[in-house]
Amino acid sequence: MAINLGDSEQEAAWRAEVRQFIETEGKPLFAKRSEEGENALFGRLGAIKEWRERVAAKGWVAPSWPKKYGGAEMSVAEQFIMNEEFAEQGVPSNVGGFGVMMIGPTIIEHGTEEQKQEHLSKILRGEVMWCQGYSEPGAGSDLASLQTRAVRDGDDYVVNGQKIWTTGAQFADWMYMLVRTDPDAPKHRGITYLLVDMKTPGVTVRPLTTLAGTQTFNEVFFEDVRVPVRNRIGEENRGWYVGTTTLDFERSSIGSAVGVKKSLEGLIRQAKEGGEASFTRNPRVRLELVDRWVEAEVARMLSYRVVSMQLAGKIPNHEASMCKMYSSELQQRIANLSMHMYGMNGNVRNRASMGYMQAVSSTIAGGTSEIQKGIIATRGLGLPRG
Ligand SMILES: Cc1cc2nc3c(=O)[nH]c(=O)nc-3n(C[C@H](O)[C@H](O)[C@H](O)COP(=O)(O)OP(=O)(O)OC[C@H]3O[C@@H](n4cnc5c(N)ncnc54)[C@H](O)[C@@H]3O)c2cc1C
Repeated sequence: MAINLGDSEQEAAWRAEVRQFIETEGKPLFAKRSEEGENALFGRLGAIKEWRERVAAKGWVAPSWPKKYGGAEMSVAEQFIMNEEFAEQGVPSNVGGFGVMMIGPTIIEHGTEEQKQEHLSKILRGEVMWCQGYSEPGAGSDLASLQTRAVRDGDDYVVNGQKIWTTGAQFADWMYMLVRTDPDAPKHRGITYLLVDMKTPGVTVRPLTTLAGTQTFNEVFFEDVRVPVRNRIGEENRGWYVGTTTLDFERSSIGSAVGVKKSLEGLIRQAKEGGEASFTRNPRVRLELVDRWVEAEVARMLSYRVVSMQLAGKIPNHEASMCKMYSSELQQRIANLSMHMYGMNGNVRNRASMGYMQAVSSTIAGGTSEIQKGIIATRGLGLPRG
């Protein structure tokens, strides 16, 4: 039996086209940034913005969207190769953010013609930023227990409650959110999906500072916020099913295994460049580098499995959970190793310590490791629910 993980002729040509684009349009932007040094955060933000514009001009900003809505309508294989190359060459992927990745496809699938007209082209042009209002202080893994209340009043819903961990809410123009419209129905059946203009009176955003010292997410408070009924996606009380479509788009994002391998390659390069008294001779570091290297290969194979299922028209389920759990936990082990290599220098604010602190969230965001294990136990191993 021959197993061929290589590209077909057509795929190789597509990979070459993507690589060429990154060489000419992407690398010069980000090379400039590394010359500016590690603290050039604003340089990086500027480069990301310009990179996004270049990807949009190429017509690749919404790889999976149908052409009739301005997307590139790429096949699963083409998307995978593009993400793989972006990660491999060290330029940001998914530059369209929540708009392109999550709410756009949801509007395409469940929205009215009017909603499509209003939102899709603005998302493609990057004119609006979106945030995701799902989690609440008492509803994360068990999202269906959310309590933010929306009560119908004429042509509006009146929303009261609180969301938390809302990434980018302080910069967002719009939020897609889940609210409770029927508190007496079984919990999955009393939820509605709304689009909210963040400038509506009664919306208050309060940034949260993470342990890495960054303000990436927020608390968002709603006090008598009036949301027009025409901003509802799908039917009232059927929002859970619309909301899980959005989550499927989040979970099917591909390419993270390559990113994990890239950060490991950076560490290996650093170990080699360290000189005579360097880490390359430290037995603990040597062994750890080898272990992580093998694990990075395993992560790559797990992601290939997910993609090959998608290519065969199947929907990955516990396989996607295995991939997410393994890659995110590996990311933490690599961040740990990086701290060992830095030794005492890991105590100051630098690339290693920032990466270490940021890696903590990778096993929480998009479904915690325990939740993924629950899925693997029941749907993969066939064990009864715990
Ligand atoms: C970087 C980052 C970005 C995020 N961005 C957003 C965003 O933009 N919008 C948004 O809405 N949310 C966002 N979130 C929130 C995220 O979806 C939740 O943090 C996540 O779903 C977990 O929920 P929780 O924090 O309430 O933890 P909980 O669900 O309270 O879990 C606490 C602990 O209990 C464990 N646990 C819970 N249930 C079970 C179970 N059934 N079996 C075994 N163990 C269990 C968990 O694994 C965890 O260890 C973000 C989170 C992070 C880290």
